[in-house]
Amino acid sequence: MNRKYRKAVIAGNWKMNQTASGIRPFMDALKEELPQPRPCEIVLCTPAVMIPAMIRAGKDCKVAAGGQDVSKYEKGAYTGEISADQLADIGAKYCIVGHSERRQYHHEDDMLVNAKAKALLEKGITPIICVGESLEQREMDLTIEYIAYQVKAALYGISAQQLRRCIIAYEPIWAIGTGRTATAEQAQEVCEAIRGVIRKMYGARPARAVSILYGGSMNAKNAAELLAQPDIDGGLIGGASLKPADFAAIVKATNQ
Ligand code: PEP
Repeated sequence: MNRKYRKAVIAGNWKMNQTASGIRPFMDALKEELPQPRPCEIVLCTPAVMIPAMIRAGKDCKVAAGGQDVSKYEKGAYTGEISADQLADIGAKYCIVGHSERRQYHHEDDMLVNAKAKALLEKGITPIICVGESLEQREMDLTIEYIAYQVKAALYGISAQQLRRCIIAYEPIWAIGTGRTATAEQAQEVCEAIRGVIRKMYGARPARAVSILYGGSMNAKNAAELLAQPDIDGGLIGGASLKPADFAAIVKATNQ
């Protein structure tokens, strides 16, 4: 982490877990565990229907609420979709786009991820843009090229001004929910390469300022080593974000 130039962010991705009525007890337990003052920005990305409950419970806890997906459309006849405007209106400050589970199960491609990131930026919501290679791509030594392509596509048409409100999350698919974490060296190598791509696209200053997170089985035990890497500015946490003590331990690990 380089706190001189960019902010540290720990974001939880609850996926399709928990319920709105479970948020209050979760937040009470989390509050007990979180350090004061908060060493980083803390975000919990919940299913959209739970965002109002998260905001109510997170107010005195300094935890921001985020969504996990958004429509690329502004409004209209798109049954089941949720717009960026609707997310902003209920108070979401962040939203994940391009998570590998959306890419895999909902066939989202890089163009769609780009359109969704733009839709969020239009409404003042910070997109947490996920990129990551499969195990096959890593084994074929395609990781850096593939990630560079994903980053370029996701940021296509996004201005330097807008980039300041974007977060990139490097999430190797083979590490998500598998208990198999990238080594600190592997994660740093890719996060450094992502910053290099952004430098080529926008120049040194914007690249230095963008927060890049690592995600993939980050937990209370491995967080400190991952977060000690110079180009890893935080984490996107799945499983461990559902346990208050573990999530708080990861937050504490940013304090180094
Ligand atoms: C994720 O879903 O973004 C994730 C990183 O999950 P996990 O931490 O469970 O691997």
